[in-house]
Amino acid sequence: MTTMTPINTIAKGTLYVVSAPSGAGKTSLLKAVLRKLPELKVSISHTTRPQRPGEQDGVDYHFVDQTTFQQMLTEQRFLEHAQVFDNFYGTSRDWLEAQLVEGHDVILEIDWQGARQVRKLMPESCGIFILPPSREELLSRLTNRGQDSDEVIARRMAAATAEMKHYDEYDYVVINDNFDIACDELAAIFTARRLRIESQKVRQHHLINNLLSDTME
Ligand code: 5GP
Repeated sequence: MTTMTPINTIAKGTLYVVSAPSGAGKTSLLKAVLRKLPELKVSISHTTRPQRPGEQDGVDYHFVDQTTFQQMLTEQRFLEHAQVFDNFYGTSRDWLEAQLVEGHDVILEIDWQGARQVRKLMPESCGIFILPPSREELLSRLTNRGQDSDEVIARRMAAATAEMKHYDEYDYVVINDNFDIACDELAAIFTARRLRIESQKVRQHHLINNLLSDTME
């Protein structure tokens, strides 16, 4: 794995890393949270995975071939990258760095391997793990997706379990049992983080300077 230089440390926005096993409802939850908190931005990853029906290039992912992905890797254009099943996934650093420097809060929807790399580069980032309410429910969510064979479903369950084993490497855990409650809990994490003193000092410095001045303007 290549050594990455740390991301620009004067970054003003908060970086959130959200991981979950397939079937936990991460994407739907984040979509709902973004409707409540539209100022949050989601990074669009690059992947070598084939596009699924309904997915849009440049919206869901930047779909690229292996050669392009390898080229980007060589040019150190990824903040983090990982192989998940037979496909490669990576977060482009240029876009992300620009957003954070401008003060935007950004969400990365990535797996535990990528989350580990990000945590190393940006220990101040905030990790959130989403869990399903039970193994039975997870199995049912993974099974209800289509007409897959038992073997495919077993492989998905094994992958989900492997991902969940890393839940305690994150700062927060949200259980997606009741969708609305999970959505409120996620929104609460984003909101509380925005209100931390380090963020407020930067975001509200005009107001705070004004409130603390001894003169009337
Ligand atoms: P899917 O192919 O089902 O969209 O995603 C498979 C897995 O890859 C999910 O766990 C997803 O979070 C993860 N993933 C998506 N984009 C990235 C990325 O840029 N980096 C890493 N490390 N994982 C990613």
